[in-house]
This record gives sequence, structure tokens and C-alpha cells, in this order.
Amino acid sequence: MKGTINHTPSCADPTDPNSISVAQALSQIASNTKALQQSELLPIRDCLNRICSQPIRSTINVPGHANSAMDGYAIAFSDLQRADSQDSQITTFKEIGCAFAGRAFDTACESGQCIRIMTGAVMPDGCDTIIMQEQAEQRDDGFIAVDSNHRLGENVRYAGEDIKQDEVILNSGDKIGPADLGVLASLGIGELNVFRKPIVAFMSTGDELVSINKTLGKGQIHDSNRYTLYGMLAQLEVDMIDLGVIQDDFDSIRSALLDAAQKADLVITTGGVSVGQADFIKTALEDIGQPEFWKIAIKPGRPLTFGKIQESLFIGLPGNPVAVMVTFNHFVIPAIRQLSGAPPTKVPVVRATSTEKMRKRAGRLEIQRGIASLSEHGQWQVSKTGKQGSGILTSMSRGNCFILLHEDNDGVEPGDQVEIQLFDWSQI
Ligand code: AMP
Ligand code: MG
Repeated sequence: MKGTINHTPSCADPTDPNSISVAQALSQIASNTKALQQSELLPIRDCLNRICSQPIRSTINVPGHANSAMDGYAIAFSDLQRADSQDSQITTFKEIGCAFAGRAFDTACESGQCIRIMTGAVMPDGCDTIIMQEQAEQRDDGFIAVDSNHRLGENVRYAGEDIKQDEVILNSGDKIGPADLGVLASLGIGELNVFRKPIVAFMSTGDELVSINKTLGKGQIHDSNRYTLYGMLAQLEVDMIDLGVIQDDFDSIRSALLDAAQKADLVITTGGVSVGQADFIKTALEDIGQPEFWKIAIKPGRPLTFGKIQESLFIGLPGNPVAVMVTFNHFVIPAIRQLSGAPPTKVPVVRATSTEKMRKRAGRLEIQRGIASLSEHGQWQVSKTGKQGSGILTSMSRGNCFILLHEDNDGVEPGDQVEIQLFDWSQI
């Protein structure tokens, strides 16, 4: 006899009325996350990749003085008009000295004179134009000859041309990159105020988990999530606390979460967020904190718990290793970014041609792992890494991108365009 059962929506369904969209999840994370206010003053080299916490204004002009952009001869442009030879196109100048970078030539240049000048040397008084060495003819009698194909001010770098005194060169929220270190150095600034690093505590949960270097018993697996979490967190400017593996037990999880919340700005767990009988994250969070949501319309990664424990943010990632990495990329990085004091950003996506068919039902964001490459015509193309199960962690290590199949997508044919996001764990 045929019959039906009342089934509960699950990750096998493309849509689940209890799931919120990725966009809703991100906006709830954003509205519950406050940037850390504390900052620290550090030597500029230690500020690389950190977030600037106050606007920086220049107190000087860079460069400080007009100077030469070339090795050549400093002249007064108006002198080129002198017709002092039979050929009115040619002007001659008497060389009266030489200016070096860091060693100016202090005698003013008069009409008919020039000063030999090196790149970076201060423009001598009376000069406004530099003739490149290669464009002047040196004569034996201490004179040079210059033709008329020149323009006023050529090869001169002006005071303040790069940075003007009082100009804002960094704003609060800017991430300090290598060029910023150079700009700060060019202003003579040796120390900078940056926001302190967020402290992130993380732990795995599961009775089946065994540390590396230990032999597996029946049904046991090695804890891989703490290693991928470590790897992803290490690419960000955070201080990490690895709290190890917690057993599937309400009291152990509850006390581990309370302890973590004392120490960290953000607490991350993996596993135990589903509806199984050994899944205690949600109930523990309900007991000691405020859950905000626990299911997102995303595959993999649907069961994800977000909330607060005391002053800390809490993100309970799924247990499946691929789901951990996908949800870290999509939800944890934006939260850390916001904690760090950086403004929100859109992660760059690239359009690529799919080389293969991809099954997909509309209703949720599905994220597959792909191998993307540039064709000889400079177009991105992408294929799947093979098996896409959320336990197939090698799909992440073999792949180089996520393939984003959006909610409304209902399948991909070879040749269709898809969006890809190249792996980049340092997006902040
Ligand atoms: P859970 O959400 O706890 O039911 O876990 C879902 C799946 O992920 C199970 O097959 C777990 O064994 C696996 N899993 C959970 N935690 C880890 C971990 N730390 N490392 C590797 N696999 C894990
Ligand atoms: Mg578990």
C-alpha cells in the first residue's frame, strides 16, 4: 500500500521555510556586529595589513622642493629663445656647476648659463626646465647646445606634487598595504594608530573526533576542521585561541562557550548545529546567549547558528569540512572584517564559461568547487573539481574557486556563464 509521511524540511530540499536568505543572514550579522573601538600605536612596519583607526594628514609637502626628474641640465626656458648662433634653432649654455640629490648647487643661474643636475636634486634658482642629458650636446669648451624642441617645465617635479601639506592620506578604516607604509615613511611618520586585532576563539565539537597522530578506532575521524579554521584565520589579522575538541555533551559545550566568550570577541565552533540527538550548540546558545538565526538557504552550510554570548559574537559553523570553509568565506570573514573596523566590501566575482553541466534546483545559493583557468583568448572558464559532497574536503584543496549558483539558477549547461569567486582567504 502506498502512503505519504509528513516530512520536515531538510538540506535535501531546495527550499526550507525556516531558512533565511544569504543576504538576510549577512545583514543580521552586520547589524549585530560592532567594530572594536580600541586602537594601539605601533611602529609602521607592524601596521601592515592592519586597519587604520584615525585619519592621517600630511604635515609636509612631498616632495618638499621642486627637483629634477632626470639627469640633465637645468636651464631657464626663456633662454632657449636667444638666437646666439648662426642656426637660430640651437642655443648654447655655459655649464657653471653641478647639483646632486641631497646636495644643492646654491649659486643662481643667469642668462646663458646652465647647471648640470642629477635626478632628485633641488632645482637651482633661476632655472625652470630640465633638458635630459641625452638631448643636449656636450661641447669641449664647457658649453652645451640645446635645440628648440622643449617645453617649459619639462622634467621638473614640483613641491607637493605627490602629497600636499595638510592633505588626508589615510582614513579610519583603511587597510594598510605596502604602498601605505612607503607613503607614511615619505612623510616621516614612524608610528600609526590601528585598531587592535579581533580575538577569535575556535573549537571543534564531536565525540567521533580524534587528534592527529592518534590511531583511529571504529567510527572515529581525525579533526580536520580546526586545521582549516587555523589556516583561514592565519590569513587574517586576528589573534587566535584554539580551544581544541569539545565532546557532544550539553554541559561541556555550555561551559566551553562561556569560557570562550570571556576570552574572545568572536567564538567559532564547528559541528553540532544540526537537528541530531548529539547536536547541542543551539540549545547551549539558547541557554547562555541570544541566537539570531540558525538556518540559511545555502548549500553547503545550511545549518549555521549565529548569535551573541555576552559581549562576544558567536558563529556555530556546520560540521562538514567543506561547509566549514564555505560558510567561513561567506559569513565569518565579513563579521571579522566589521569587527576589525574595515568598511563592508563586495568580494569580487568573475564571470566564467562552464565547461560542463551542473545540476541545480532553484531556491537556494549553491556553492560548488571549481577549477578556473584563463583561455588563450583571456576568458575565464571553469569546471567542477569532481564530487561535490560537503564531506569531500579534497574538492577545496584541488579547486581554486567557488562556483556561485544563485537562488534563481535552475541548472547549468556547458557553455553557460556562471559566477566564480577565486579563493582568497585574506579579503579583509
Ligand atoms: P555534525 O554537524 O556535528 O553532525 O557533523 C557533520 C559531519 O561533519 C559529520 O560527518 C562529522 O563527523 C563531520 N565533522 C564534524 N566535525 C568535524 C571535524 N572537526 N573534522 C572533520 N569532520 C567533522
Ligand atoms: Mg557532531
